[in-house]
Amino acid sequence: MASLPPRLSDETRAFVANAKNNLIAGEWRKPGGSSSIDCIDPSTGETVAAFAPASTNDVDAAIDAARRSFDTGAWRSLTPAERAKRIWRIGELIDAHRQELSELESLDGGKPFAAAFNGEAPAAAEAFRYHAGWCTKIDGGTFKPSIGGLDLEGVTRLEPVGVAGLITPWNGPLVMAAWKLAPALAAGCSVVLKPSELTILSTLRLGELICEAGIPDGVVNIVVGSGAVVGDAITRDPRVDKISFTGSTASARAIIDAGKGNLKRLSLELGGKSPVVIFDDAKIDEAIAGAAGGIFGNAGQVCVAGSRILVQRTAYQRVADGLRKHAEALKLGGAFDETTMMGPLISAAHRSSVDRTVKAAIDEGAERLAGGRIVDGPGFFYQPTVLADAGAKSCAWREEIFGPVATLAPFDDEEEALRLANDTQYGLAASVWTENASRAQRMSRALRAGIVWVNCHGIPDMAMPIGGYKQSGWGREHGRLGLEAFLEHKSVMQRVFS
Ligand code: NAD
Repeated sequence: MASLPPRLSDETRAFVANAKNNLIAGEWRKPGGSSSIDCIDPSTGETVAAFAPASTNDVDAAIDAARRSFDTGAWRSLTPAERAKRIWRIGELIDAHRQELSELESLDGGKPFAAAFNGEAPAAAEAFRYHAGWCTKIDGGTFKPSIGGLDLEGVTRLEPVGVAGLITPWNGPLVMAAWKLAPALAAGCSVVLKPSELTILSTLRLGELICEAGIPDGVVNIVVGSGAVVGDAITRDPRVDKISFTGSTASARAIIDAGKGNLKRLSLELGGKSPVVIFDDAKIDEAIAGAAGGIFGNAGQVCVAGSRILVQRTAYQRVADGLRKHAEALKLGGAFDETTMMGPLISAAHRSSVDRTVKAAIDEGAERLAGGRIVDGPGFFYQPTVLADAGAKSCAWREEIFGPVATLAPFDDEEEALRLANDTQYGLAASVWTENASRAQRMSRALRAGIVWVNCHGIPDMAMPIGGYKQSGWGREHGRLGLEAFLEHKSVMQRVFS
């Protein structure tokens, strides 16, 4: 096993050395599986820990624990105020362990430490605090039935959906887990959570904090392992009522198939190929910086990455030059190097896939304005890349690359901008850059995307629902809609006798 980066705190070192695997019924249990998953530091390519994945028996035990805790009402029957207190406490514990959680996030995800410390960890804490507030506000309504001759009273109520399987990706494991756990717990659900096999450390540490916060045993269970085995077992199991999944559109198709047995409720947060539309009346320097941040942040491994940059022809050259300069100025480096501006990609395999797509686009005639190459040396680094004229049929323009690769194209007017922006199988996000308020309004109405930012890109908020049109997903996370994804609506009609 390789040595850990020198700047890690003693707490983080101790956690990595003794990390437990599966949280089942309130106990950290040794997995039954014999194989092992390597935990690799993408900044160096070195293996820093190894974990045995959960066996199917472990998954069975985790689902059983969640089912029993739900059926006995261990969590959902607590008063809403009591649930709120404990969920709020999780947020406080995340804040108290911010350094350690951020180090873990950087260690196996390659996320620059400053981004994890200033972005991911506080956002995860905020997700729990935001949802703590919802516990006491989950209400229904009353209605007066119109059927004549009977004295009837109608009531609608909201109830937890049951046992939820939560499946998260590797590009933001801590915050993604928080975005699912917090609404599920606020709604009163019990859960089985499976993090990506590539980034398990911060989720396991979060599991320890959840136990410390007083969430009853069996309400939150965590199992580690591959999607094909552990994820599939959760998705197929008829004792699981709902799956909340964030990941690729390809995996979502397998989940839809596997979950159809008991017609599971599905929330799917999937991929994107989000357009950034820059008009010549925009504050162009702001737009260039925003577009660069939108594609090079987290090395482009962001679901809402602005990977297709559309620029009005009159401003095209200026934006192209500006993006090239931004790309060339980004200092690549390890997650724990304070001078790092962009970190590595998650794995060697993912980097090869990014490189293949870029090479194919260049072969198909795209012009390489910046980057476009694997960085030699240790770690999984890829140059920030800007491609022009990739062509509307090229894979670089159509497929989600999930790397630091911007494709640039010009347009002449609003109509053409809209046609190009909406010409995609995805519909997760978009941004519009203009100083013309009516144009911003027209564009945000006509863009087929779950979220549209105007004069900014990629800013999430717990109160603002996010999710996909088209093949970017089903349902929404955040806000009341995100909470309702973990609730069932029940109507009660009562006859009143005189
Ligand atoms: P992925 O689909 O490969 O894996 C995501 C999770 O699903 C992992 O935990 C994996 O083990 C599990 N999984 C894979 N196959 C499964 C199966 N058949 N059954 C059950 N579970 C299965 O995605 P990834 O590579 O980890 O993440 C990148 C993808 O996630 C990108 O497409 C990105 O756009 C998307 N993403 C979307 C959002 C969003 O909010 N819309 C956010 C982040 C990432």
